[in-house]
Amino acid sequence: MTSSSRGGSDPHLWYPFSPIGGGPPPLRVVSGQGAKLHLEDGRSLIDCISSWWVNLHGHAHPYIAEAIHAQARKLEHVVFAGFTHEPAEALAGRLVGLLPGGLTRVFYSDDGSTAVEVALKMVHQHWQNRGEARRTFIAFEGAYHGDTFGAMAVGARSAFTSAFDEFLFPVERFPFPDTWIGDDTCDEREKAVVSALEARLARGRTAGHSDVAAVIVEPLVQGAGGMRMCRTPFLNRLRDVTREHDVLLVFDEVMTGFGRTGERFACERAGVEPDVICLAKGLTGGFLPLAVTVASAEVYESFGGGDPKRTLWHGHSYTANPLGCAAALASLDLLEENVDAFRGMEAHHLAFLDTLADLPVERPRATGTIVAFDLTTGTGGYFDPVAAKIKERAPDRGLLLRPLGNTVYLMPPYCLSDEERREVYKGIRELVREVIA
Ligand SMILES: *Cc1c(COP(=O)(O)O)cnc(C)c1O
Repeated sequence: MTSSSRGGSDPHLWYPFSPIGGGPPPLRVVSGQGAKLHLEDGRSLIDCISSWWVNLHGHAHPYIAEAIHAQARKLEHVVFAGFTHEPAEALAGRLVGLLPGGLTRVFYSDDGSTAVEVALKMVHQHWQNRGEARRTFIAFEGAYHGDTFGAMAVGARSAFTSAFDEFLFPVERFPFPDTWIGDDTCDEREKAVVSALEARLARGRTAGHSDVAAVIVEPLVQGAGGMRMCRTPFLNRLRDVTREHDVLLVFDEVMTGFGRTGERFACERAGVEPDVICLAKGLTGGFLPLAVTVASAEVYESFGGGDPKRTLWHGHSYTANPLGCAAALASLDLLEENVDAFRGMEAHHLAFLDTLADLPVERPRATGTIVAFDLTTGTGGYFDPVAAKIKERAPDRGLLLRPLGNTVYLMPPYCLSDEERREVYKGIRELVREVIA
């Protein structure tokens, strides 16, 4: 047993997204409160990335902890086929009330990847149920939709997928027209993508219908692909074009949901109603793994009629876990009580970006609670060594940061105090100066 916070390599653990035998051992965390994580060695870190983008209201929030506790004493779990329960119904009703009007059917699963798998299966079988063979999915360059096989297939091919590429179904991909402050090429790139997509959808008509099942997109912000941000008119055009050609539009809001983009959902900020939406990360406020795929009545109804062949044969042992639902309901209470916290963050982020002018920084950008920029030094890409340097040195400045290659970003919990926010901005400026020196 080791007790140091750089605990050495544990003999029994295999960590995610972590090369074995490289880099420093993980830091041992003993508790958390608000935006802060407390380490075993006595240090405290401000969680600048909401712990893999899940935490909304702060760590160990007593209101959510209480809700889980109360639910655990009543009913911890029950099979969700042939049985139902109040927390699942209450949460589904609440989510449908918050989402655009056409999204009315909530299907539960466990995490972002499964939410995407469910969306892909739903969409594929929807067309099959309607007697239309549609084999093509359209996705975007740089996309990330999760680590299971279907989610990997619609995500961009990368070093993360390369060992499995031969098993991933083919997907047609279009450029993602990302933009940043000072970008004057975006109009043109958006137009090019939209007209290429339009031409593609027009071409694919056979036997009176399209060969394309759906377009899947991370609306407003591509997360793991490097916090690449697009504009709302692009999403509006995407909706127009898909609707015109009777192709489904899937929003993967696993990361952008629950306030991240400055409104409760990116679809709300963009004023776009997708046919299917995937939600996970922030759903329980960062407490428990839970996900939903919410579909339109039209998609849902194609599965009707009681025919086994038309049924969506998908489910997980912990589907609609009551503890997860209770946590999500409590998290939604806090979200609705604190709208100003996520609505107000973008203005601070924009002011922060203005203070970076003397640093080797490009593509400054912010959407809601997310702010990002790229360092012009280094090699670029996910394996840029500058990422490891910043990640390793951030704890010395009291920060938890995990750059995506040369992209430095912040995605803090909404409870970040004014003082903590100033500390984070200052720490990042100092860190960048240090690693480029
Ligand atoms: C994180 C993420 C996923 C996968 O979610 P997991 O919970 O990690 O499986 C899917 N889509 C997007 C946009 C994500 O950011």
